[in-house]
Amino acid sequence: MDLIVGNWKMNLGGRDSLQLIEGILERFKKPLPGEAVVCPPATALFMAGNRVEETPLQLGCQNVFYERKGAYTGEISPDFAREAGSKYAIIGHSERRQFFSEGPEINRRVAAVINSGMIPILCVGESLEEREEGNAWAVVQNQLKQGLQDISTEKLCGLAIAYEPVWAIGTGKSASPEDAQEMASRIIEELNHLQGLRVLYGGSVKPENISEFMTLAEIDGALVGGASLKADSFAKLIYWEK
Ligand code: PEP
Repeated sequence: MDLIVGNWKMNLGGRDSLQLIEGILERFKKPLPGEAVVCPPATALFMAGNRVEETPLQLGCQNVFYERKGAYTGEISPDFAREAGSKYAIIGHSERRQFFSEGPEINRRVAAVINSGMIPILCVGESLEEREEGNAWAVVQNQLKQGLQDISTEKLCGLAIAYEPVWAIGTGKSASPEDAQEMASRIIEELNHLQGLRVLYGGSVKPENISEFMTLAEIDGALVGGASLKADSFAKLIYWEK
């Protein structure tokens, strides 16, 4: 089943998040062709969770800490995100890697997400320089190994991997469907022991190009930033034409 995830980043406060949720819900026709998930900022999570409860729209969070509780000022507990209604958690987004120096501990975040009962969406992807040097797969493979090490196969059941080339995020320049397909195939091959694995593509996905990715057999969904911030365009992504 398609999984379309809107990453709202730090763009909307509580009021605007609720307004966007209303707009998306107004555009829902039954039945939904797949799963639709929105990831508002942490401050809006609880209100958003209350609003989407008993609707087909699902909730995710943009990040969590790897400890579940304690003296970690400013951090977000995976258990609290779950309590707010999050089903999914984006982990290891390139903006977290770039601006908050996330690296090896992404592995502990993935484990914590699973232990709290959420589904991790682990983001992987190479920079332009790494691609041009021919190292795209080596980088992604390393991020997968690092992100998933020592977590049992059973626990990783249902995991989602978002392949997001860094140079395609927020730039308007998406990867070619061929490149996305090649990377998705390699990810599937690398993780072929995992049941229920889903590979998403992310990087400048919009209503005009989503079908190029969603029609690929290897791609099960999309992680979307900019185009998820308007109800109309998010609804178009959910109801992309087959
Ligand atoms: C993202 O934030 O993960 C993303 C893919 O952003 P955009 O769709 O704006 O490129």
